[in-house]
Amino acid sequence: MGSAWNTAVVGAGIVGLLTAWQLRLQGHTVTVIDPEPATQASYAAAGMLAPVSEVQYGQQALWDVMTAAQAEYPELIKTLQQASAQPTGYRENGTLLVAADTSDRQAVADLVAVQQGAQMEVTALTSSQLRRSEPALSPGLAKAWSVPGDHQVNPRQLVRCVTEALNAPLEFFPQAGPPAHWTRKRVLRVEQTPPGIRVDYDDASGSVFDRVALTPGLGYSQIKGICEHYPLQLRPVYGEVIRLRVRPEQLLEGEEHVLNSTIRATVRGRSVYLVPRAPEDPLEPLGLVVGASSREDAVAGTHAGSVAELLEDAIAVLPAVREMEVVEITTRARPGTPDDRPYLEAVTEDGAVVISTGYHRHGILLGPLAARLTAALLSGEELSDHQRAHLAVTRLRRD
Ligand SMILES: Cc1cc2nc3c(=O)[nH]c(=O)nc-3n(C[C@H](O)[C@H](O)[C@H](O)COP(=O)(O)OP(=O)(O)OC[C@H]3O[C@@H](n4cnc5c(N)ncnc54)[C@H](O)[C@@H]3O)c2cc1C
Repeated sequence: MGSAWNTAVVGAGIVGLLTAWQLRLQGHTVTVIDPEPATQASYAAAGMLAPVSEVQYGQQALWDVMTAAQAEYPELIKTLQQASAQPTGYRENGTLLVAADTSDRQAVADLVAVQQGAQMEVTALTSSQLRRSEPALSPGLAKAWSVPGDHQVNPRQLVRCVTEALNAPLEFFPQAGPPAHWTRKRVLRVEQTPPGIRVDYDDASGSVFDRVALTPGLGYSQIKGICEHYPLQLRPVYGEVIRLRVRPEQLLEGEEHVLNSTIRATVRGRSVYLVPRAPEDPLEPLGLVVGASSREDAVAGTHAGSVAELLEDAIAVLPAVREMEVVEITTRARPGTPDDRPYLEAVTEDGAVVISTGYHRHGILLGPLAARLTAALLSGEELSDHQRAHLAVTRLRRD
């Protein structure tokens, strides 16, 4: 590494926290600034790491980035486990794509053809294979495919773990910077004031840093100064997520959970997913996350119709949902962009400010890649060809 900078990360969702972690690992001093860390999109997310099942028509530019991001997870998890005693919430449990009726089957089969055409691993299951792997699913489902490489992480657990790693002494990483500083304030303005970057807070105080990562999710549009020079097309895309708990009496002898894999189902044309947390997950023991709606109606509160549809579709796929305990219903906004691609780019001539936001439906998946790229840009590292290709996808001004 070259210089050790005095860096700031504005916004402590998953993207900001992982960025802070990378900066610390590279030897920098890090201040994490957020009035309420990890309470926005990252708090709601199910945490699917699903570059294959998240494939959308016409978004080829994103596919490589999503695949590369998922490949970062095992190394991130290994590093975090050396720095923190907290479990990471990472789980390699695979995913099944499920079609409820015959018209759903055609729709899912069409998407599977695209995924397979892009050399992604997706395999059709016979009904007896499906019954053997997921006996609790409804017997009437039309068709299922296995996506063995799509996994999950519990974002709330990951937040805890990264936070502890940011605060820990880090004896395993002698080159790392000191424990992070935390500033619980809202940033109002970020301005280049050579030789530094000035950050102004909502209590009329301010600080100057050598390097600043702007990771405030949807909050970007409210920050004055540099953010006004780079207006971004961000919009809130609201989603409801239902957190359920399996009742122990729902399990047969020897069973640890009602599901082994994540289920992504199409039910009469609607999408629903069911993500089983690890049976021993400390935050969501025997948890099942059902999601997610997608609304652009500017209504920040929980929408009853969306919750009803999610439960109805989840029960159609997994009848046992009817007997489970509802632990929580969470509504948050995804930081949406027009083409689902995030915005990640160094915006000052010397690379001292990096904007990293707009992770929309994929921020948990893309977080480690985004963090590495941001830290590399801020540190002035030589980028690899792959990193340059990923940055070409995330430029603020689209090609
Ligand atoms: C219902 C739902 C389900 C989802 N499921 C998945 C999934 O399964 N897999 C996946 O990969 N992604 C998923 N996502 C998307 C993912 O949650 C987001 O893309 C990701 O959390 C974005 O992270 P972030 O850190 O950029 O933003 P956020 O988590 O929104 O964090 C931004 C932070 O910035 C802070 N902030 C804002 N303004 C300021 C300011 N002026 N000063 C200081 N701090 C500020 C906020 O307080 C907040 O803590 C889901 C999202 C939703 C809503």
